[in-house]
Amino acid sequence: MKLRFIGADHEVTGSCHYLEAAGKKMLVDCGMEQGPEAYLDQVIPVNAAEIDYVFVTHAHIDHSGLIPLLFKKGFRGTIFCTSATLELCNIMLKDSAHIQESDAEWKSRKNIRAGISSVEPLYDMDDAEGAMSLFKSVPYHDEIHIADGIDVKFIDAGHLLGSSSIEFTLTEDGVTKKIVFSGDIGNKDKPLIKNPEYLEEADYVVMESTYGDRVHENPPLDDFALALAKILLKTFDRGGNVVIPAFSVGRTQEVLYFLRQVKVGEDEKEKVLPKEILEVRERYPHFPVYVDSPLSIEATHVFNENVADCFEQKAIDMVNAGINPIGFEDLHTTVTSQQSQQINFDKTPKVIISASGMCEAGRIRHHLKHNLWNPASSIVFVGYQSPGTLGNILLSDKKPATVKLFGEPVAVNAEIINLPGLSGHADKNGLLTWIKNYKTDVQKVFIVHGDNEVVDPFAKLVTAETGFPAYAPYTEDIFDLITGEQIQVGDVHSVEKKAKKTKANTVFARLVAAGERLMAVIKRSEGRPNKELAKFADRINDMCDKWEK
Ligand SMILES: [Zn+2]
Repeated sequence: MKLRFIGADHEVTGSCHYLEAAGKKMLVDCGMEQGPEAYLDQVIPVNAAEIDYVFVTHAHIDHSGLIPLLFKKGFRGTIFCTSATLELCNIMLKDSAHIQESDAEWKSRKNIRAGISSVEPLYDMDDAEGAMSLFKSVPYHDEIHIADGIDVKFIDAGHLLGSSSIEFTLTEDGVTKKIVFSGDIGNKDKPLIKNPEYLEEADYVVMESTYGDRVHENPPLDDFALALAKILLKTFDRGGNVVIPAFSVGRTQEVLYFLRQVKVGEDEKEKVLPKEILEVRERYPHFPVYVDSPLSIEATHVFNENVADCFEQKAIDMVNAGINPIGFEDLHTTVTSQQSQQINFDKTPKVIISASGMCEAGRIRHHLKHNLWNPASSIVFVGYQSPGTLGNILLSDKKPATVKLFGEPVAVNAEIINLPGLSGHADKNGLLTWIKNYKTDVQKVFIVHGDNEVVDPFAKLVTAETGFPAYAPYTEDIFDLITGEQIQVGDVHSVEKKAKKTKANTVFARLVAAGERLMAVIKRSEGRPNKELAKFADRINDMCDKWEK
């Protein structure tokens, strides 16, 4: 019974854990790296065809994005997840395949012009569709018998529609161990979806730590609508647009929920709506809202279909009363890229919600190109921005004067606003509440899915607060879950450290290449006038004398 760490170790994205137990080979999540890597993910140590099962905690690409690649490499086992995760994966993995295909096509066109060979996509639509045929949905809370010695239970992690923590009960040679993978743990009192659930028993816990160093302000939900109304007023008064980079699945639907509150939300009980919200309604009664991402539109349908299983009570009540909590008049969904381009030709102040949420790819980059230079517009961030991403750069204290979009410099003149409080992740206190709920003696808590500076201090904090030994593993660390011992020490060197070494090698390789070129030039010079050859030889000798002095 072994646990091997593959990805999201000492960093946030690329979640993947390899588990061997009861004669089976399993993966928990198979995510894609997003943004620059802090620590290199490791390759899965066995042939994809040998893997029996994949368990997916939730549909976010950093937890599911490499499943089609696994299929491409020969995996034909079963993929278990909740039904909302299955439906979301169905649209997200196909979308990801489409991105891989068009990226490869674009690079190939460039390469062919440069006389270099074409590029294969990481995986294509057939791989995504093939992977989807292996998915099997399971309900929350049921004890599911997977194979002899392997039982699992999914509980609601309250992070995204369909998200879950997974509890494994594994038996090998008469010894039974419980191991829980937290998945991403949700924030409490969010719009639309339920709060995270807690577990009580485990021998080992593998737990996320994205916000292990921070406490969210967590303003009441009404305050978020109010904050949004204030931004709308000042931006529209300037004649600008409000551009909201948001991931298509989850955050986009939450923003729609709040925009609906601003536009048509009713007074609740005795509470009177804030004057800013009333002012928006009076002065900009029909401000248009564009959701510009085909994926967001499909994801919104999945939200509407999973109300009973995943929505919190207030949202269920709204649906029962015939209200769509994420729909309203003046909401436009754009699909074709031509329709997308039209948005910026129309001068009416508007809200544009587009993906990706960290501005690294997707249509949001077009909207940034059209709005970032404009001091009247506002760019509003509503989610975590990984270090190194454009979103993170725009939010930093040392914001650059210009950024490059589609090869062109674009001035950063728009107002950049950070609107926290909508986090999909529990903060430090939420994470501690989650781990403190265990009533058994947890043998070890593995802290993953957190930035390098966060994981070690958070591991110490977990131990201080719970008494459970906690450790932040590195990729390729292997633990024997029967004895609790570490049987392989992983790769503790960050990509940055390795890059310095590689850079030194690259520079030397440049020098060697220059030397080879010199030799080639010399050989081609045979037959040129002796005077020229002698002059060239003198110059080379001079240069060498100076260099070796
Ligand atoms: Zn997530």
